[in-house]
Amino acid sequence: MAIIERNGRLGGHCETWTDPSSGVPVDYGVVIHQPLQAVYDFFKKFHIPLLNMSSVSWNVPRDPANASLPAVCYSSIRKDVDFRDGSNVDRGVNLEVDDAFSRLGSILSNYPYLLQGYDLPDPIPEDLIIPFGAFLEKHNLTAVIPTYYQFSQGMGNLLDIPTIYAVKYFNLGDLQALTQGYLTVADGDTSKLYRKAGDYVGRPNIFTQSTIVSTRRQNTTSGNLELLISTKGEGLRLLSCKQALLTIPPTLMNLGGWDLSAEEYAVFSQYVNANGYWTGLVTDVGLSSTTTYWNAAATTPFQIPVLPGMYVLTPVGVVDNVWEVKFGSNTVDLSDDLVQDYIQAQIRTLRNANNATSSAKEPSFLAFSSHTPFQLQVTPEAIWDGFFRNLTSLQGGFGGRMFYSGAAFHTPYSALLWRFNQEVVLPLMMQQTERRWM
Ligand SMILES: Cc1cc2nc3c(=O)[nH]c(=O)nc-3n(C[C@H](O)[C@H](O)[C@H](O)COP(=O)(O)OP(=O)(O)OC[C@H]3O[C@@H](n4cnc5c(N)ncnc54)[C@H](O)[C@@H]3O)c2cc1C
Repeated sequence: MAIIERNGRLGGHCETWTDPSSGVPVDYGVVIHQPLQAVYDFFKKFHIPLLNMSSVSWNVPRDPANASLPAVCYSSIRKDVDFRDGSNVDRGVNLEVDDAFSRLGSILSNYPYLLQGYDLPDPIPEDLIIPFGAFLEKHNLTAVIPTYYQFSQGMGNLLDIPTIYAVKYFNLGDLQALTQGYLTVADGDTSKLYRKAGDYVGRPNIFTQSTIVSTRRQNTTSGNLELLISTKGEGLRLLSCKQALLTIPPTLMNLGGWDLSAEEYAVFSQYVNANGYWTGLVTDVGLSSTTTYWNAAATTPFQIPVLPGMYVLTPVGVVDNVWEVKFGSNTVDLSDDLVQDYIQAQIRTLRNANNATSSAKEPSFLAFSSHTPFQLQVTPEAIWDGFFRNLTSLQGGFGGRMFYSGAAFHTPYSALLWRFNQEVVLPLMMQQTERRWM
């Protein structure tokens, strides 16, 4: 087995920063998990304790963080603010929220197949293809929007995207986890999972800072798939594989050098949009360290914030003077530098609106990374025309040797992807292996 990874580390969207003076880890990427068996299995395999976030004692807002809990369990005061000008937005209290979520749960339970990839009925229910905002209005469910939006970071124009993308991301399992509790890594260092998984796979089998230069997957002398990779320090290496699992975002640009089959090209060339999603940790924010600022807007439908912009700015609590930021956009074309400038400008706007001291230092980044492209999308017409059927039927191509997983083949959600891998993709791969040996 070999892993080819472009970055210098494993983990993808999972990112952890460690405070150099206290050694306290702070997750600023993947951090919460639905209580699925696949999640328990994965962490148990590497002896990493999890905690249920609903069954621990969070601090009272305005009090210091409970130092025995990870940063994600820090509780602060909520403030809804328009990050464009710093004005407060009154979101009020909507008494219909619980009922709306309960009715949404009933509707989603009609679509159990959404929890495992894109193996959909034919025809696909129209409700899954219409824009998510229209779906919510049709079923009188708009009361869920503020909470749904908050949990759907990275989804860009949430109300405009086809419903299927929205309800696979914040899904039936989340409605249950909201009451039963999400899991998180007990010591706040989720990246440990990938360090331990890397040790398990064996460092010589992991090619970091490496990419595929070209592939030959048909008519090879060995009958195997041949992948030519560019590695860090070892130049080009030719890998000869019985099977391959592609999990990177399958845009045509990211697949440069691959000998795409006509079927692969027909599917991957249909992506027309994706969102931008960035995360980081900032110091010297100069705002109250017991308040979380949520972006909102007084005059937009359902008061959802205007993107591009920060979704949220929140103190991490377990380390002084450190704040987490999440930034979203409806397109992928913002540079990382521009996003950082944008974040700093929005923090200054919040400072001015909150009369923060003018002597405060400029906010600066302790950590920052782009997770763009996030949620690759095709048009509703492409969905009607069988896009997901064609995507799914790629599995087992090239004579039972090529397989696919990752966000584009299910949803950008780690816990859901682990279960998809365990219950759908790996059995498919094993089936093909056994067939060949028989
Ligand atoms: C800020 C943030 C917070 C999140 N929080 C949560 C959370 O709390 N819980 C949860 O369940 N999910 C969370 N998610 C979603 C979750 O991270 C994703 O759904 C999941 O990581 C997607 O997995 P993936 O394998 O498709 O992509 P990734 O995790 O991005 O992995 C893809 C990997 O492929 C590599 N790669 C890309 N292109 C190439 C190439 N050409 N060659 C070689 N390597 C390449 C990338 O470097 C990356 O390591 C979060 C996502 C983000 C961005």
